[in-house]
Amino acid sequence: MSTPTLHSALLIDGHLVGGEGVAEAILNPASGEVLCSIAEASLEQLEAAVQAAHRAFPAWSRTTPAQRAATLLAIAEAIDAQAEQLAQLEALNCGKPLHLARQDDLPATADVFRFFAGAVRCQQGQLAGEYLEGHTSLVRRDPVGVVASIAPWNYPLMMAAWKIAPALAAGNTLVFKPSEHTPLSILALAPALAQILPAGVLNIVCGGGEGVGSSLVGHPKVRMVSLTGDIVTGQKILQSAARTLKRTHLELGGKAPVIVCNDADIDAVVQGIRSYGYYNAGQDCTAACRIYAEKGIHDRLVAELGDAVASIRFARKKDADNEIGPLISARQRDRVASFVERALGQPHIERVTGAAVHSGPGFHYQPTLLAGCKQSDEIVQREVFGPVVTVTRFDHLSQALDWANDSEYGLASSVWTQNLDKAFQLANRLQYGCTWINTHFMLASEMPHGGLKRSGYGKDLSSDSLQDYSVVRHIMVRHGQQLD
Ligand code: NAD
Repeated sequence: MSTPTLHSALLIDGHLVGGEGVAEAILNPASGEVLCSIAEASLEQLEAAVQAAHRAFPAWSRTTPAQRAATLLAIAEAIDAQAEQLAQLEALNCGKPLHLARQDDLPATADVFRFFAGAVRCQQGQLAGEYLEGHTSLVRRDPVGVVASIAPWNYPLMMAAWKIAPALAAGNTLVFKPSEHTPLSILALAPALAQILPAGVLNIVCGGGEGVGSSLVGHPKVRMVSLTGDIVTGQKILQSAARTLKRTHLELGGKAPVIVCNDADIDAVVQGIRSYGYYNAGQDCTAACRIYAEKGIHDRLVAELGDAVASIRFARKKDADNEIGPLISARQRDRVASFVERALGQPHIERVTGAAVHSGPGFHYQPTLLAGCKQSDEIVQREVFGPVVTVTRFDHLSQALDWANDSEYGLASSVWTQNLDKAFQLANRLQYGCTWINTHFMLASEMPHGGLKRSGYGKDLSSDSLQDYSVVRHIMVRHGQQLD
């Protein structure tokens, strides 16, 4: 993998231009080395991006679903054509193993554009009828306007697709801001996007959250803000959006409970948590990180899972040998380390494996399993966003359900049992946007993804997302009732 050279850091009104704001170093988290530096958008450039999106809106919003679908399909083709380069950049900029970026991130990104190309052509719900005598009503779905989309760093290109594809499909224009840590992959795709899309329909600005991000959110011509990020960021965005009454779509954090019943297939549970508790070094809002194990399976699960987690390959010299990468930054690694340190300061919590910063270069943290955790422990309640999984033992299913739901988060959960009655009873009562049964983590472009409670609201993926990016309008025609 070679170090990227980037000449332009912004896409404004169809032009690729360099940022005129402060330059930020972009790091390779696997080594800690500086890859390049990217200059942020200046306030004038941000203004130009929003104005371009505003100017492009009338024409783009009047295109037919078939025209927009053709554009989205062309973007998917461009992603496929550049897949190897994009996977390499994703791996470099996030530190994730290249084989995973190739096999998971890139195909999923292209698929999201393909799904929304199809979904927008099937969008229905236009109600028409005579609800008052001599009047015919119809209901239209129209785009919202200029959307500001703001993405996190854990899956940069995939998160960009989740934000950009439904908003464009629904007929909106956008200003997209990647995370300040991980702009490289979307910037590498920007020349193709500039060729495919009419000028101004999609603008890309780089920069930090407090500067570029908050100015974008506060702009009066932005009609909707879509964020995937932290709860605190969501709260700040809501406060700012309140001033101009913008629509908001918030995909925030998570702390997924995993209920393991005595009758679960233990091999599947161990394999599932080893994979989906630690995938992307646990930097995933749906990570299987909060296990509740029934008393009859608890001890065996802790022992077998401990061995399985200790065998996760990371920080090896040969990238192909790694199953997970580092944390995104030294700050994030230190945040994870301090969560674990505080947890191990509690006498009842047992270190099963891991719990240390890796001594080599980069921001790696050992895959960690902690047992003996109690419901009230900070490590059980708060999102760590790192390779750390806790186990709590339970005696009765109702207790597991209460504990699973006793969380400020409501994004994802899973239940592991071979008894379908039990599985459905638990799944139906779990207060989460998604519950998996005997699996975890799996997403499909066709299915809605989004949280309840403080995990936010609005759905990514699925045709529900198209609805979130559109407004409902009623048109009523008075036509009388007498023909002659
Ligand atoms: P973050 O909130 O720090 O940053 C997310 C984005 O918001 C970045 O682009 C950042 O620059 C921007 N931002 C920050 N402050 C802002 C402000 N005041 N105004 C406007 N924009 C601002 O989150 P992160 O650290 O990049 O990502 C990790 C978080 O994202 C975790 O909490 C994780 O759970 C969450 N996440 C949620 C989902 C989901 O689908 N629910 C998916 C991935 C990540």
